[in-house]
Amino acid sequence: MKNMIHSIRYEEYDSLQELTQQDRILMQEAIAATQGAYAPYSKFCVGAAVRLQSGQLVRGANQENSAYPSGLCAERTALFSAHALYPNDPVEAIAIVASVNGQLTPNFTYPCGACRQVMAESEMRAQAPISVFVGSATRILRFEAVASLLPFIFDNLPEKD
Ligand SMILES: [Zn+2]
Repeated sequence: MKNMIHSIRYEEYDSLQELTQQDRILMQEAIAATQGAYAPYSKFCVGAAVRLQSGQLVRGANQENSAYPSGLCAERTALFSAHALYPNDPVEAIAIVASVNGQLTPNFTYPCGACRQVMAESEMRAQAPISVFVGSATRILRFEAVASLLPFIFDNLPEKD
């Protein structure tokens, strides 16, 4: 028997100004995306923005439904939209924030397990790490890859020819 340790590396930023310009724009896009949330039940408006390798940005926001399981998170809304609109343009980065009553939340809004699974498959499709930015009202975290957030992933992608 061997004891194994898995660790992850991530960065913390104290303001949007510390980010590169393209990452700052991605975060601002995620903040703007919260406007598209349909959250009459939770009042918790999540915004996500995806940047593709071409530089194209795609927004997503949580879409709730009175039949609760029929709703969808912001991250999957953005990723599925990106893959549907630009199937040959791999995802490079995703940013996630949330607001309540028009104010960014003081806590980080991390992606749920199902979204992490979808993000992980986007990363496999991209064959390159996807940066994950998670913002609060005052700080931003950057994870260098989805694999950091979901290690030992279920991977049943068919082999490529
Ligand atoms: Zn989710």
